[in-house]
Amino acid sequence: MLEVRNIVKTYVTGELDFTALKGINLTIEKGEFTSIMGPSGSGKSTFMNILGCLDNQYKGEYILNGNDISNLKDDDLAHIRNKDIGFVFQAFNLLPRMTLLENVELPMIYAGVPLKERRKKAVEALEKVGLGDRIKHKSNEISGGQKQRVAIARAIVNNPKVIMADEPTGNLDTKSSVEIMKIFQNLNEEGATVVMVTHEEDIARYTKRIVKFKDGEIVLDKMVGNRIIL
Ligand code: ADP
Ligand code: MG
Repeated sequence: MLEVRNIVKTYVTGELDFTALKGINLTIEKGEFTSIMGPSGSGKSTFMNILGCLDNQYKGEYILNGNDISNLKDDDLAHIRNKDIGFVFQAFNLLPRMTLLENVELPMIYAGVPLKERRKKAVEALEKVGLGDRIKHKSNEISGGQKQRVAIARAIVNNPKVIMADEPTGNLDTKSSVEIMKIFQNLNEEGATVVMVTHEEDIARYTKRIVKFKDGEIVLDKMVGNRIIL
């Protein structure tokens, strides 16, 4: 599904260079459910931004679904991001004054999907995350856990090849976090490839594979023993 080879990312700030990723090699197969772990500052978000096609300023190779997408130009990268990747952020990133339905429809507006089909798919995605009865609510009228469920609906609505999430439970209480992990598990059961960042062992135990970062390098890659299945 995706493969990166020797990814090096250097942030240049003023005269100081900081190398946040020091040669990352990783292959993720279709249908996997992977957690990226590691302490704060270890390069997890930097890596996720590259995987999620939010950043094209790096060295190395990125093959997604058989296509070499290394260092694509901004427009081409945006196209891949819309078509192949569903990205979920820690802070949800919903548009507050818009309804849940409108928020979920957004990526399909960019993709040029006609209104009727857009509505239908958005409703289906919201039903999938258990919010089918609230589609007309404004997104600032719901709880954090519900907001993240909307964000997941928005991420899956275009049928992406990979679902990616950076600390999706980072702003949530335990109960909502478990609900979110159950949704990811269900999506993975249905065949979705899921890659997510978490720094919590308790959350990583819902996934199937743990890749640990430290100081910009992968220091561990293991299958999860005693995985929790909800
Ligand atoms: P994590 O998500 O694991 O906490 P990050 O990928 O956000 O780590 O950051 C890795 C390192 O890169 C940190 O030392 C951080 O300070 C640095 N870094 C992140 N973003 C930038 C940036 N835009 N400019 C300069 N340094 C950055
Ligand atoms: Mg981070």
